[in-house]
Amino acid sequence: MANTENVEIGVIGGSGFYSFLEDVTEVRVDTPYGPPSDSLFLGELAGRRVAFLPRHGRGHHLPPHRINYRANLWALRSVGARQVLGPCAVGGLRPEYGPGTLLVPDQFVDRTQSRKQSYFDGLPLPDGTEPNVVHVSLADPYCPTGRKVALKAARGWDWEAVDGGTLVVVEGPRFSTRAESLWYRAQGWSVVGMTGHPEAALARELELCYTSMTLVTDLDAGAETGQGVSHDEVMRVFAANVDRLREVLFDAVAGLPENAARDCLCASALGGMDPGFELP
Ligand SMILES: [Zn+2]
Repeated sequence: MANTENVEIGVIGGSGFYSFLEDVTEVRVDTPYGPPSDSLFLGELAGRRVAFLPRHGRGHHLPPHRINYRANLWALRSVGARQVLGPCAVGGLRPEYGPGTLLVPDQFVDRTQSRKQSYFDGLPLPDGTEPNVVHVSLADPYCPTGRKVALKAARGWDWEAVDGGTLVVVEGPRFSTRAESLWYRAQGWSVVGMTGHPEAALARELELCYTSMTLVTDLDAGAETGQGVSHDEVMRVFAANVDRLREVLFDAVAGLPENAARDCLCASALGGMDPGFELP
């Protein structure tokens, strides 16, 4: 068993974020909800122990609606992570949020359909433990400290990140129709993605801090005038920005408080309510 001691921070993102780090240790973790998307890759960054998890698996074989989100967050917590950064690619819903925009949302809207989005779903765990019914507050779904740290890190790289906005999360894997996209935009929402939910909600149920960092790779159907989004275009813009995003992400890791020093509400999201099982 590799040394998982002192892991403080989890990062859910692709291999572009950790593959060149020295001394990365691969650790397989199982959970009561089955296996996470892949092994955890443990490494050290700026003196912090970090667990990286490729959200879609290392071969990018898992579409957004097939990701085992519950296992992913559980696995990160089980190795010690208490603060999670979740970078992801999104479509811009406004012309001013063009490709290359970094937006740190402060709200999300759930438009997904088929995902397990709670640990408190009334079903026993495989070991027979029965979770209690617990309702956590998600009025402000993202960690206020993590958001500030992420924005500061972006500014350090002269990347004028957008502070706040609403991420609408759709089921996918298809992109939005023009009508859907125009509707989202008319609501005042900012960006659209496929993986932001239920990550933030599950993190809150496990009293983890969760910060979303969204990179706009294209304008969504309702915000542009051409043929609509293509997968190739998304991948091209993501590749062009991944180095910069990695630097920002690493500075954000360095800027997060120590786990024991968390003073945000995320750390006590259950408010003393008994979930009926031991948090990992
Ligand atoms: Zn927090």
